[in-house]
Amino acid sequence: MNRRVPLLMLGLVVIVSAISFLIFYIEESIFFLFVTIFLLVAGTISIVIVQAIDLAKHEKMIDYEMVEKYHLHLVDCPACEKENILEDQYCRFCGEQLKGEKDV
Ligand SMILES: [Zn+2]
Repeated sequence: MNRRVPLLMLGLVVIVSAISFLIFYIEESIFFLFVTIFLLVAGTISIVIVQAIDLAKHEKMIDYEMVEKYHLHLVDCPACEKENILEDQYCRFCGEQLKGEKDV
C-alpha cells in the first residue's frame, strides 16, 4: 500500500491550516483562528481514520512475500473459499479451521 498518502494528507492539512492561520494573523479575525483549529483537528482525525482503514485492510491481505520466504502454503477456506495461509490454521475471514491439503 502507498505509504505516501498519509504524508501528503498531513502536508495538505498543515498548508491549509497555515494559510488559515495567516489570514487570522493578517486580518485579525478570530473566525479564522477557529477555522485553523477546526482544520487541524479534522485533518488529524481523517488521517487517523485513513491509517486505521489501511491497517485493517493490511491485516486481511496475504503477505505473499512472507509466503515465499517461509515456504508457507496457500489454501482456500472450506467455508468461505477465500484465500488463506495454511499455517495460520484458521481462516482469517470467517474463523473456519483450514484443512491441510498442501497445494504449492
Ligand atoms: Zn473462511
